[in-house]
Amino acid sequence: MKKGQGFGFKRERIELEPCPACKGKAVVQGVFYELVCSDCNGSGWVVLGSRVVLSSDELVTQLSFKLQWAQREIAVLQQGSSISGPAEYYQQNNRRGAGGSNYTGD
Ligand SMILES: [Zn+2]
Repeated sequence: MKKGQGFGFKRERIELEPCPACKGKAVVQGVFYELVCSDCNGSGWVVLGSRVVLSSDELVTQLSFKLQWAQREIAVLQQGSSISGPAEYYQQNNRRGAGGSNYTGD
């Protein structure tokens, strides 16, 4: 047992930035078809600042962290829109009903 591994269970979060060569698309446009971008190992991401490509093993983990974060963001956004969305809809409907109604009373 080595000492100093108390934080070893928590993997380091490496900041990533979109690959400048393929602009984060993971592929580049070849003459006839798209090619896997060699600058980022086909991931679309490089290490922020250094532009180093992560190894496949590390990349999978880091992309998972990123995806988990993105999914949380999406979940929050979806919750937010379900609260404000219907209210906006009803407000628009009320305005239309009060001002622009075609009901003549005949
Ligand atoms: Zn790339």
